[in-house]
Amino acid sequence: MIEKYKSKRNFGSTNEPEGELKSSDKPIFVVQKHDASHLHFDLRLEMDGVLKSWAVPKEPPIKPGVKRLAVQTEDHPLDYADFEGVIPEGNYGAGTVERWDAGLLKILERKDDRLVFELDGEKLRGEYVLVQFKGQPKNWLFFKR
Ligand code: MN
Repeated sequence: MIEKYKSKRNFGSTNEPEGELKSSDKPIFVVQKHDASHLHFDLRLEMDGVLKSWAVPKEPPIKPGVKRLAVQTEDHPLDYADFEGVIPEGNYGAGTVERWDAGLLKILERKDDRLVFELDGEKLRGEYVLVQFKGQPKNWLFFKR
């Protein structure tokens, strides 16, 4: 499930984790602020032994009433949650990565096109929803409930 992640990266040239698959009974989430060609926030949710990932072009909603586009990206390995640092020029996603928030994740509802979950972070706390746009499989709406 992380083949796509691996295929995009040259691990001799970036210090991002190569990744191993494992599962845990205390799922986590992380948001990484990624200052690449465009600044964005990578929302990652631990599901099925990987980090399901979405790129959010603007700051994730702290309060209800703010809706954000979230573009689904490739699954990342679980140990990516701890990654911070600089991805060197010439590599996929070159730029700085900083952990912006993290904490425990509780999935409350899971459908193919809709996820409801509880986040227990420093900034993101409470119930959040991701809803897939009809006919646009990569594009989701992300908001706090
Ligand atoms: Mn990114």
